[in-house]
Amino acid sequence: MTSVDPTLRATRTTCPYCGVGCGVLATPDGSGGAAISGDPEHPANFGRLCSKGSALGETIGLEDRLLHPMIRCKGVLERVAWSDALDHVAHRLKHIIARDGAHAVAFYLSGQMLTEDYYVANKLMKGFVGSANVDTNSRLCMASSVAGHRRAFGADTVPGCYEDIDEADLLVLVGSNAAWCHPVTFQRMLANKQKRGARMVVIDPRRTNTAEDAELFLGLKPGTDTALFSGLLVHLADNGLLDRDYIEQHTTGFDEALMRARQIAGSVAATALATGLTEADVASFFKMFRETERVVTLYSQGVNQSAQGTDKVNAILNCHLATGRIGKPGASPFSLTGQPNAMGGREVGGLANQLAAHMGFTPPDIDRVRRFWKAPRIATHEGLKAVQMFEAIARGEIKALWVIGTNPAVSLPDADVAREAMKKLELFVVSENVRSNDTVEAGVHVLLPALAWGEKSGTVTNSERCISRQRSFLPAPGEARPDWWILSEVANRLGFGAAFDYKSAADIFREHAALSAYENNGNRDFDIGALTSLSDDAFDAMAPVQWPSREGAEPQARFFANGNFYANDRKARFVAPEIPALRSETNAGRPLRLNTGRIRDQWHTMTRSGLSPRLGAHLPEPFVEIHPDDANKYGVVDDSFARVTTDYGQCILKAVVSERQQRGMLFAPIHWSEANASSGRVGALVAPFTDPYSGQPESKVTPASITPYEYVFRGFVLSRKRIELPQSLWWARAAVTGGYAYLFADNADLTRWPNWLRAVSCDDLAEYRDFGGGVYRAASFAGDRIETCLFVGPAHDAGDWDVVKSLFAAVSLSDDQRRMLLSGRSTEGVVSTGPVVCACFGVGRASICDAIADGARSAADIGARLKAGTNCGSCIPELKRLIAQADTAIAPQPVAVAN
Ligand code: SF4
Repeated sequence: MTSVDPTLRATRTTCPYCGVGCGVLATPDGSGGAAISGDPEHPANFGRLCSKGSALGETIGLEDRLLHPMIRCKGVLERVAWSDALDHVAHRLKHIIARDGAHAVAFYLSGQMLTEDYYVANKLMKGFVGSANVDTNSRLCMASSVAGHRRAFGADTVPGCYEDIDEADLLVLVGSNAAWCHPVTFQRMLANKQKRGARMVVIDPRRTNTAEDAELFLGLKPGTDTALFSGLLVHLADNGLLDRDYIEQHTTGFDEALMRARQIAGSVAATALATGLTEADVASFFKMFRETERVVTLYSQGVNQSAQGTDKVNAILNCHLATGRIGKPGASPFSLTGQPNAMGGREVGGLANQLAAHMGFTPPDIDRVRRFWKAPRIATHEGLKAVQMFEAIARGEIKALWVIGTNPAVSLPDADVAREAMKKLELFVVSENVRSNDTVEAGVHVLLPALAWGEKSGTVTNSERCISRQRSFLPAPGEARPDWWILSEVANRLGFGAAFDYKSAADIFREHAALSAYENNGNRDFDIGALTSLSDDAFDAMAPVQWPSREGAEPQARFFANGNFYANDRKARFVAPEIPALRSETNAGRPLRLNTGRIRDQWHTMTRSGLSPRLGAHLPEPFVEIHPDDANKYGVVDDSFARVTTDYGQCILKAVVSERQQRGMLFAPIHWSEANASSGRVGALVAPFTDPYSGQPESKVTPASITPYEYVFRGFVLSRKRIELPQSLWWARAAVTGGYAYLFADNADLTRWPNWLRAVSCDDLAEYRDFGGGVYRAASFAGDRIETCLFVGPAHDAGDWDVVKSLFAAVSLSDDQRRMLLSGRSTEGVVSTGPVVCACFGVGRASICDAIADGARSAADIGARLKAGTNCGSCIPELKRLIAQADTAIAPQPVAVAN
């Protein structure tokens, strides 16, 4: 989408969003921005980017950036010198450790950190402070996959690679909305379908966009994945389809696992009963799996985010081990990681139950890492995992917390309790890019400015174990510094300078590589010893490289086709899973279950993606999706509002009534926070139940109730700057070209608006008042440009922000445009194209529906007419759905529509 001037020099780097790990070419424009395109040479994406990656250029800028260290003094954050901030952090840490012990301090890290930053944080805490209280937001994302891998393989190994997706004949997606959450990898799946005729099965309680292209969609009951894959294991066994040689030579525990599978789902009929699927659908899936040698099963948060997530992972792995379909071209289980460097975090030991370099807390591993680091106080047992860590903070056992690059006040389950816990800390340090977010506002004591994407330099590892360079292409702004530098400076002040005397990310990478190979001898999967001696120049130029990268050994794309697992006996373990059961029950007061997840065009808590007008146009408001039958039952109306309540909290969200949602289930996205919406912080609703092995929370089935919530008025404000709205509004903020949009709903008298507008805008004001009809519209101007524009009206007819947005984006308005502005219509007769579906070309839903009505019958037809879907392809599933809806003459399902 963004064109790159070939005369300018592009920097090869890696996308900072999801675990696909796409290569990006970034060409700085010399004034703080950069043109972005996909790197045609990167093996993860071969030049393709999704809507989020394509819009990266819109997210670079210094507005809201934290540029100086700050310390809270008498309740107010004040700018201080780096030396003062670092001295303060070290002094307070030393004091707390001396008084309460090493376990009174903790680091909470992020899957967005670079491997080098992660490495230094982990080494400092586990090797020198002497505690393993280092955990990461990756705990919320894929910890169950890690635990499942370690139980089955003896190591956290992803056996396959992306080429398997190209070469499979059957792609089974479990709990994964890859069309929205891993869009470039999903395009690879579609390319395989198109070129080779691969079939696709999608297993998910929600009929997501991913299901649009599936030959078979299995909308199973939540929490029953283990039953489905147990039924499959029994079916394979009973039909003589096991790879007996593989089981015999390379595994143990098969009989126990099969016996348990029989208890859980001993037949097609029992599987159907347990999962809520029809017997025909279950039988179809089993037939497809059994008849196809080349099967890749891809799974993600729908599997991981569960109190039985590890068992679900192992139920899937059991089927692949039993058929020997592992580590072979086109045949493997495949965990899709959510974050850009979840894998790098796993490599360095960034989870509290890992030590370092894929070593755990066994005596030999502890001794090896201690000797390598020359560590004076190495941690000797696991630390507290994320949810337990914040519980310990709430109990006052952890007194000092350093959060780096994440926003736990929004993303943790039971987030209100976690936020309150942070307020109790004696020392609360946050390394951040932004001056303010929900976590910073939870009472941070020391705020440290970290480099952001485009400024920092190091490595990340994607879902297929491919290590890529993230390179800087922008200067460091203000006094922002790399995380590794900040951590090393504190380590130095704690008296550990000799072990943290790093001069560059390359220094750290070499040490990380050396540790991976240290006394390894093929006994550990993670080995990048061949990269230990990279020079600084070679590190700068390093091309994407998949691990393992062992010194003197041939490259190895896959693991385990011939066994050779990482348990002491080099065999894999079949695991007998527990009987599937959710940790919570619904009841009369909480009759529904709340599922949470991502949307296509936003990332985490929106601190970056929320800056892009393109991305803000797709789904600009926090919403809850509900099945039409449930909507009827609970009186919820599409495009109105609803209050969702759980035992932990409540939110008011836009209501989207959709048959994509299963009866009895609600779905709400995770991205909104108090920084960008009045009542959309969904983490506060989620139960804190966790998996006993992985510690990952059950984020997808919290018992909930829903009630309609009515607002008399709705409206929007478009403003050049961030503004404070009147009290008691429901609102959500989105970026628009030239400023910000605030979409709101209100029950207060209209008469408050004129005074409010005068207080926030300039004098050149045009107004339209019809208080009797419930309408107030006004705009203020600076010269010929709109400064602020406010539309308020009855909830069913508040004016069309899409039309006004285009006038707001203009540098100057003609007299005609200025006259027509408050009518909500454009002078060129342009009508609203509706909510944006194609973010790359800004094509709205109404335009697409018109094209379909005019005969477009495929995504390619729509692309030829409107360009929609012809760049990143992320919207193609949505285009197909709109075509399908038109074909079956079902009225189109509204997405979360703007006012
Ligand atoms: Fe970035 Fe999209 Fe690629 Fe993920 S799929 S790495 S978000 S461009």
